[in-house]
Amino acid sequence: MTVHPIVIKGEPVLHRRAKEVETFDDDLRTLVADMHETNRVANGAGLAAPQIGLGLRIFVYAMENDDGVPAQGVLVNPSLVLGKVSGNAPDPDDEAEGCLSVPGEHFPLKRAEWVRVSGFDEFGQALEFEATGWFARCMQHEYDHLDGKLYVDRLVDRYQRKARRVAKDHGWGVPGLSWMPGVDPDPFGH
Ligand SMILES: [Zn+2]
Repeated sequence: MTVHPIVIKGEPVLHRRAKEVETFDDDLRTLVADMHETNRVANGAGLAAPQIGLGLRIFVYAMENDDGVPAQGVLVNPSLVLGKVSGNAPDPDDEAEGCLSVPGEHFPLKRAEWVRVSGFDEFGQALEFEATGWFARCMQHEYDHLDGKLYVDRLVDRYQRKARRVAKDHGWGVPGLSWMPGVDPDPFGH
């Protein structure tokens, strides 16, 4: 299994819609195994293919949940049905989200508390389940990556401004930046 570098905000593949997977073959299964390994070494909750530079509709996750869903899995060509997203202000303590492509940062964001996820595994087997709480948040975050959206693109004004300032300070927002899990220091200090 190969650990892949993770690209950072500004890399074009992170900001455009990813394409459907058309063939469920050994190449796909190798890619999914590499994504699980990369996510594990990066101490991530989830990783989408665009984050390793591939514009394909695939994400993996590793998260214990209360929904009776395996704690590790993959979704290929997923679709999502969302519950209502509260219009209240996001809680900076309980609703702070992070992303391996915005390394080391956290910003609060409201998400739907419930989603229904469907898609396929790496063998082309259909999957469908409901997710709640943080697991639902993880599903929404990873799914967004497939539509070229980062969580920082969804922040309310106050945090949006903060996130822009932080990105500027890091020199992000331009193509060609990445970090290497297991080699570079863990950006979230895990
Ligand atoms: Zn992310």
